[in-house]
Amino acid sequence: MNINLAINEGSKFLSSNFIPNSYLDSEILMAKTINKDRNYILLNPTKILKKIELINFSNLIKLRSSGNPIAYLTNKKFFWNSEFIVNQDTLIPRPDTELAVENILNLTKQKNKINILDIGIGSGCILLSILKERKSFYGTGIDISKKCLNISKMNAINLKVSSRLKLFKSDVDKFNLGKYDLVVSNPPYIKKCKLKYLDRDVIGFEPKQALDGGLDGLSEIRKVIKKSSELIKKNGKFILEIGFDQKNKVINLLKREGFYINSTQKDLANNDRCIVSTKI
Ligand code: GLN
Repeated sequence: MNINLAINEGSKFLSSNFIPNSYLDSEILMAKTINKDRNYILLNPTKILKKIELINFSNLIKLRSSGNPIAYLTNKKFFWNSEFIVNQDTLIPRPDTELAVENILNLTKQKNKINILDIGIGSGCILLSILKERKSFYGTGIDISKKCLNISKMNAINLKVSSRLKLFKSDVDKFNLGKYDLVVSNPPYIKKCKLKYLDRDVIGFEPKQALDGGLDGLSEIRKVIKKSSELIKKNGKFILEIGFDQKNKVINLLKREGFYINSTQKDLANNDRCIVSTKI
């Protein structure tokens, strides 16, 4: 069977299993199978596939049809300006989270050599994107998951920022090292009882530890705010990603811990998603 036919078959199978963007996904999985980019596929539609390639392709199509996210099947996700390695230990970087990066870059245009702390670094997408753009900045990332730290380490090496990054395996409560000019976090913020309503691709495959915000969705946010208030320098900035219905509650928590609210931003779906505040 040739490349084009296989992609068509794969796409038909995916759409019969209710996978949106089935043709694109089929193309991406073909590119992964034959270890080429999508351009190669477009230029070589009649190339005949080896038997083993066809078997591998059909296995990937089956995995995708049962909801496995494309990012986990390819182990890649593009975020901001870079490609990140991801696997099932890390949340897949979301376009919404680019708001945090945008805010930080805007806030630090005139800054030099600042120290940034990322609480719950995951794949590293936020902090490493910043370190890549601002060559004089230093970063510290903490995460409860050692496996995530391994992934962010690999990403830091790929992005050539690892010499300016320190990583620690730690619970947010227990981390007490350093003082920071800026703190950023995208903590788990979904209410426990709402987890089961997330998309199948999300709840079936992404790490619950990175999503579960406890009974009221704010358990981790509370800890992150408290810890940031301790570790941030006076006048330091705090950038926090939040759930769509958490803005007012989180603003109150921040004020109680001595933060001044600078701004809040909405994501592409017009949901409140990011809060910028200053420690006073
Ligand atoms: N925005 C993510 C989602 O919708 C949740 C990320 C998080 O809890 N930090 O699945």
